[in-house]
Amino acid sequence: MPRSCKVFAGAASAGNRCRFEVLEGFGLVGARGRGYLWWAMIVPTAALYRVAYGKYAVGAYNINNAEQTMGLFRGCVESQAPFIIQISKGARKYTEKRMLEAIIRSAEEIFPETIFAVHLDHGDEETCIDCINSGFYSSVMIDASHETFEKNVEITKRVVDLAHAKGISVEAELGMLGGVEEDIAVDEAHACLTDPEEAVEFIKRTGCDSLAAAIGTSHGAYKFRGRQSLHFDVIEKIRENVTAAGLPPTPIVMHGSSSVPAEEVARINAAGGTLDPSACGVDENEYLPAARLGVAKVNIDTDGRLVWTRVHREFFHSKPGEFDFRPPGKTFMDEYAKFIAHKNVKLGSAGQVEAIRASLAK
Ligand SMILES: [Zn+2]
Repeated sequence: MPRSCKVFAGAASAGNRCRFEVLEGFGLVGARGRGYLWWAMIVPTAALYRVAYGKYAVGAYNINNAEQTMGLFRGCVESQAPFIIQISKGARKYTEKRMLEAIIRSAEEIFPETIFAVHLDHGDEETCIDCINSGFYSSVMIDASHETFEKNVEITKRVVDLAHAKGISVEAELGMLGGVEEDIAVDEAHACLTDPEEAVEFIKRTGCDSLAAAIGTSHGAYKFRGRQSLHFDVIEKIRENVTAAGLPPTPIVMHGSSSVPAEEVARINAAGGTLDPSACGVDENEYLPAARLGVAKVNIDTDGRLVWTRVHREFFHSKPGEFDFRPPGKTFMDEYAKFIAHKNVKLGSAGQVEAIRASLAK
């Protein structure tokens, strides 16, 4: 039986209304009592949303290897923040899904004070089903946003039904984000903002637990070329429409939220990189205002890749005769931990881990 069955036990029959309420009664003691001691700190994604919604955003960070994982956990311990580990389809292929699972389980033992959820990032239906059946994931994302509205509803609903039956929550995407992520490339001409009217219909018909909305961000390092940044009006309108339709609050997920700091790009280029210096991303100071309007999860991947690239380029640039990868690996873990702690401060999740623990123990 998956560890969180109890959490969503009523989800399928009671429908959307129990998005947060089904979590009542869930606690760490309950998880231990089921014989899942080592799972105790991996929590349902909805348990994080329940506390964070409207106040701050939880950082969702992609991992591909042990160094990223160590840096992520250390940064979250340092900043006392709850977090979401994201595993993409590409990461599951790159390091092998079982390796990533083992790394996360080990990290949980090394850092028992952490509280986090495990999430599939940008899944297709097949990958979602695999993750749901694995019993390891707190939530999955089904991304059928490239399909027609009707087809998106149909696919998402199938995944929601399967996931809710197993106590797992579902993030779905509506609207098209521009940019490049994994093997999906969307040019700006095809990118479009989420229509708030459609968003409500989509949430109602699919029963999805959170919505990845296109609110002006794009994937990758090259965002906002001469354009303005976040469309707060879209976030606000979605929330208003959801409330007006009598639906429970639905957390909005921000994708493509890296800030692509100019200084990072400059350092990479000074050490031999050829990144476009005009690249820029989301202003980190916009995370919190967006969170207060209902953005409860902010995905950050590109900025972390820039940290890796800067550390390794600078190391091998200054020591061209070196071939031991451990010294830069060690520097990367330190730098990545600092980077994560900084992001958590900007998201407002820093210092929130005890409040989450208290909420889970109720
Ligand atoms: Zn994304």
